Amino acid sequence: MQVLKFGGTSVGSVENMKQVRDIIDTRAPKIVVLSAMSGTTNALVQIADATQMGEIATAYELVGELQKHYDDVLENLYTNDKIRAKVRGYVDEIFSSLENLTRSTEYTQAVTDEFVSKGELLSTYIFAHYLQQEGVSTALLPALEFMRIDKENEPDTYYIRQNLNRVIEDTGDADIYITQGFICRNYAGQISNLQRGGSDYTATIVGAAIQASEVQIWTDIDGFHNNDPRFVAETHAIPELSYDEAAELAYFGAKILHPQTVQPLREDNIPLHLKNTMDKDAKGSIITHRAQGEGIKAIAAKDGITALKIKSGRMLQAHGFLSSVFEIFQRYETSIDMITTSEIAVSLTIDNISNLQAIEDELSQFAQVTVDKEQTIICLVGHNISSDQNTHKLFQILKDVNVRMISYGGSNNNISLLVATEDKQRALELLQNYVFTQVVSA
Ligand code: ADP
Ligand code: ASP
Ligand code: MG
Repeated sequence: MQVLKFGGTSVGSVENMKQVRDIIDTRAPKIVVLSAMSGTTNALVQIADATQMGEIATAYELVGELQKHYDDVLENLYTNDKIRAKVRGYVDEIFSSLENLTRSTEYTQAVTDEFVSKGELLSTYIFAHYLQQEGVSTALLPALEFMRIDKENEPDTYYIRQNLNRVIEDTGDADIYITQGFICRNYAGQISNLQRGGSDYTATIVGAAIQASEVQIWTDIDGFHNNDPRFVAETHAIPELSYDEAAELAYFGAKILHPQTVQPLREDNIPLHLKNTMDKDAKGSIITHRAQGEGIKAIAAKDGITALKIKSGRMLQAHGFLSSVFEIFQRYETSIDMITTSEIAVSLTIDNISNLQAIEDELSQFAQVTVDKEQTIICLVGHNISSDQNTHKLFQILKDVNVRMISYGGSNNNISLLVATEDKQRALELLQNYVFTQVVSA
């Protein structure tokens, strides 16, 4: 069985839903994972924020605006009045539950999680009934009955496999099974989610659970590009990537994939195909074990990075200094992305700053600490990049941009640079130029 995931834009309008209907052929059974319609999760986050701040009137108004949008979708998507009326009943129920949530007296994370879970419930119900109207044999698989994360917020793979298979069996035969991306329950059974962009992750978790022949992620671009198309012109799709390359790029900011997406597929060697809903015949990108080509293949950037320089007069020939430093980060469950050392200092980066103050206080007991916020890691990925003869071109960047840290040689497929976020756009453009169009000025 194949698993196909369609993102927010792909189901974001009546026109695009019709495209999706054309892509899903019924020759073989499939599980289709859907995101919320584009803009919905952002709107729900806004409503949750307003509720949390006690701005009930604003929250209520935003719910009304969102409902109007859905009314238009129902009006234009369905030709069958009976199906439209049934869907309207469901959509109305969801919106009254949203209105009730805006009146939550005690605000907790669980309230936000419940707010944002509604987007995928809406899109899947609406789309499943559209397919039924079009004569496709369709059934809904409720994600909240099988998707679960454990205490570490990792997918509970055993539970998911058991329960997904049970839900499919209970549901009975259908050509197309539709389920919600992103949403799940936590270990305590409360509604939760796989973090923003998490529908990609749902698709690969489901793919591994049913041992799919392939997972396809359909989005609004023709595959994995060699640089971030939101910041750099003239990027292009890469036909083939390895799991390692894709994982590294996704982790370091390539928005096309949720950071954890490839991990569930790796072990079983299930291919991941990235495709464009708006141009279904474009080849897209295929991600497998195979590492193809040599040298730098793609560049990604991750914002929201904090750099710490930890300097100790006593580091000179002092063993134990690094382990004392790392022990603190371990205790505060804060992972380190980049690290460089010199004889008297170590510089490292983190993205989770929830325990920064406590970490700083502890480090200050034996070292001088400098903290720089608003940093960006730029990550260059490819096969055998450290030994590739063209890699030196990337160092041209040093004369144009202030590079705070470089990590080279940590692995054979990654080089990372740390720059101030304000220099990111320029750095990405220059790297595109130096690395891919090979214009190296004297
Ligand atoms: P979806 O809603 O389908 O999940 P996303 O917006 O999450 O879509 O991801 C697709 C977007 O990712 C593209 O429109 C593009 O702007 C952005 N993007 C960032 N980096 C890359 C990259 N390296 N390759 C392709 N797209 C990228
Ligand atoms: N709807 C969720 C989000 O906007 C999940 C996703 O689109 O993948 O983050
Ligand atoms: Mg996405």
